Parts: sequence; structure tokens; C-alpha cells
Amino acid sequence: MEEIFIVNEDQRAILETVARFVAEEVAPRAAALDAHADPAAGFSWEIVERAHEVGIRTMTLAEEWGGLGTDSLTTAMVIEELGKGDIGVSVIFAQTLKIAQIMQKALNAEQRARVLPKFAADPRGMLAIGITEPDNASNYFLPYPTPFRTSAQKVPGGWTVNGMKHFISNGNRASFYLLFVQTEKGRPMNEGSTCFLVERDRPGFTIGRVHDKMGERLANNAELVFQDCFIPDENVVGRVGNGFNVLAEFFPQSNAYAGATILGVAGALHRKAIEWAKVRVQGGRPLIEHDGIRAQLAEMRMLIDASRSYVHRACWLADHQEHGWDRTLGALPKAMAAQAAWKIATWTMEIHGGHGYMKEFGVEKLVRDAAAFLHSDGVNRTLFLKAANFMFAD
Ligand SMILES: Cc1cc2nc3c(=O)[nH]c(=O)nc-3n(C[C@H](O)[C@H](O)[C@H](O)COP(=O)(O)OP(=O)(O)OC[C@H]3O[C@@H](n4cnc5c(N)ncnc54)[C@H](O)[C@@H]3O)c2cc1C
Repeated sequence: MEEIFIVNEDQRAILETVARFVAEEVAPRAAALDAHADPAAGFSWEIVERAHEVGIRTMTLAEEWGGLGTDSLTTAMVIEELGKGDIGVSVIFAQTLKIAQIMQKALNAEQRARVLPKFAADPRGMLAIGITEPDNASNYFLPYPTPFRTSAQKVPGGWTVNGMKHFISNGNRASFYLLFVQTEKGRPMNEGSTCFLVERDRPGFTIGRVHDKMGERLANNAELVFQDCFIPDENVVGRVGNGFNVLAEFFPQSNAYAGATILGVAGALHRKAIEWAKVRVQGGRPLIEHDGIRAQLAEMRMLIDASRSYVHRACWLADHQEHGWDRTLGALPKAMAAQAAWKIATWTMEIHGGHGYMKEFGVEKLVRDAAAFLHSDGVNRTLFLKAANFMFAD
């Protein structure tokens, strides 16, 4: 926390709470939860309930809904701080905090009154977003003009949804979902899809597999399966056929939040590299007294600081778009932070020598975790392509 650029005292107080929560609730549990062979068992309701007690779970809700109304910059700082304790814990709250922000803007007054008080009151209230499906991932980031496979048929009073989504963070743990579905046959997804609000207990909606991931194991990712699932008209978010506008209009800070998560992991790795370099003696001196190692530790610091500046700029401008927001900021900060984290992961492992490869020293978990955002929230190559498409649109 000492390295973060803090703008005001509210942020400092919030970050101190989060740092304490990480030290007391996340750090002592992370290694054991990560080690579970069953992919669902890495998730901890205890951590969620403790986060609820200290106000982390709902902090992006406006005060009228029981939250703190944190802005995107402060939220990114919180997400990074959580990521220093564990990437999965950061992801489960990043998703929930982000979707709560989106819901407050994208839901209509009746939907807000129906959903937000329930979400605020439930100590286990988690949120998820279902876009990716087996045939469509980079396609929707770019977007490539193809339809979603998950589709809805109009029926009296609502829609019948069939299909499935996969890889969904909090998929098996959420109580409310935003779901993107093809509602107009023969049109590409960016013209013919609709965003629906879906409750966990809706008949016809079930959870499929919980994915067995390489890292980020304290977060669950799952398949969402829809079999003749009736979703009423009052659950349409925005307008029918306008799903992509919900994505474009209400998600500007999503990419930067993903960057903040992975920066947390980079920070944890950097700290480990420094600690090890101080105690490991080779060549007659601690590693930190060897110039090659010292210089690399400074380079790591540069990568983290520069990536954080980019993430913070994207977050601040997401809330103040009139000051120069541009759409590359919805693609590039995460790619930069993820590349930095991956470099720092491999360097930290190297600084640890053979110890970096042994589970007991904790670097191995962080290396697995650091790989998560090379693909999550968009494969980096896809995000570069997305940014290039904005840059060279004319
Ligand atoms: C941990 C995790 C959490 C996730 N959480 C969620 C979630 O909560 N909700 C959700 O909806 N999704 C989620 N996802 C899905 C995630 O967004 C996708 O996995 C990601 O976009 C990559 O999709 P894919 O694996 O199908 O890769 P693909 O899209 O198949 O891409 C494979 C490769 O092809 C490249 N490629 C693709 N298209 C092009 C092109 N036109 N030109 C050049 N190269 C191209 C890509 O860059 C990549 O290298 C999550 C994924 C992970 C791993």
C-alpha cells in the first residue's frame, strides 16, 4: 500500500481497511484454498461474508443503496490491494463491484428497486456477467460480425432462452447475472443481441461444470446452461437488440479493473523477490548486493508503477470522459499490466532459483496466478487488435 499514489484521506481509510482484511482474512487462507483438487472448493464463503462485514462487497453501491459510492479510481486501488492477497479473491470482488456499478446505471428504476436492496442485504450476494460461449470470445471483443449461439425466442410476456455460456467468473456463486443473448436471428451479435437480468433461481437455468483452472483457484468459473428458460420482458436491460450498447456504454472501466487485479499479483511477486534477495546469500553476499539483481528489482518497480499509472488514468477518465477518454483505454491498460506481471513472475522465479519452482516457497502459486490475465478479460493480442481497430477506424 505504501507504494500507491493516494489522492485523498477517504481512499487511505478504505485502503487501510482492505489491507487489514487481506492480512487477516485472505493471506492466512489462500495457500490451503488454492491447494484443493476440487475446483469448486477453492472458493470461500467465509471470505465473502467477512468482506461484507467490512463493507468491501458493496462499496461501489451508492449510499442510498447502502454502499460507499466509491469511484472507479478508488475501486481499482481496492481491487489491486485485494490482488496482493490473492488473485481469485480480487476477481470475485472486482466482478461484483463492477457489475454493481453497471447495474446502477443500466437497470431501470423498477429493476434497481427489485435487485439492489436484495443484493445489498445478502452477505453472500455475488454478481456475474455471461458473454463468452464456446464459439464466441475474441469475436465479441473485436467485434467480429457473427451471432451469439445462446439465443432467445420471443413468447408472450418475455423470452425463451436456450444455449450456454462458459468460463464465467462467479458463475456458480452469483445471485444475479447480466446475460448477453442473440434476440435477432441472422444479425451479427453487435446488432442483434440483448442484455438480460437473470436471477440464480430462474427455472431452466442451471450451472454446468466448474472449470478446473491452472491458477486463480480461489475464484470459481463455471458454465451457465439455459434450457427453455423463460425470462420476462421486465428483465430486459436497456432495449431489445441493444445489448452491445450496454457493453460499450456501461463498462468503460472493466479493462482497467482487470489490470488492477493483475497488478496486485505483480506487487506480491515483487515483494517476494525483494525479501528473497535480502536473505539468500550466494557469491559471498546477499543477492540484493549483486548489481544484476538490484537492477532487475528496480526494473520490476518501474513496470508496476508505469502500468498502475495507465490503469489509474483509464479509471479516472472512465468517470470523467469529457477530459479525454478514448476507447484504447478500454483495451490497453490491462494488456500492459498483464505483460508486466508475467515478466515479473518469471523474473521472480529466476531470482528464487530452484526454490522458485518448489511449492513450499509460494512463488509457484503466484506464477500460475500471474498467467490468468494473459487471456482473462480478453486475450492480449485480441485487445491490441481491438485498440488498433479504434485507432484506425477511418
Ligand atoms: C479466468 C477467466 C475468467 C473469465 N471470466 C469471464 C466472465 O466472467 N465472463 C465472460 O463472459 N467471460 C469470461 N472469460 C472469458 C474470456 O474473456 C475469454 O476466455 C477470452 O476472451 C479468450 O477467449 P478464448 O479462450 O475463446 O480465445 P479465442 O477467442 O479463441 O482466441 C484464441 C487465440 O486467437 C486469437 N484471435 C482471435 N481472434 C483473432 C483475430 N480476429 N485475429 C487474430 N487473432 C485472433 C486470440 O488473440 C488468441 O490468441 C474468462 C476467461 C478466463 C480464462
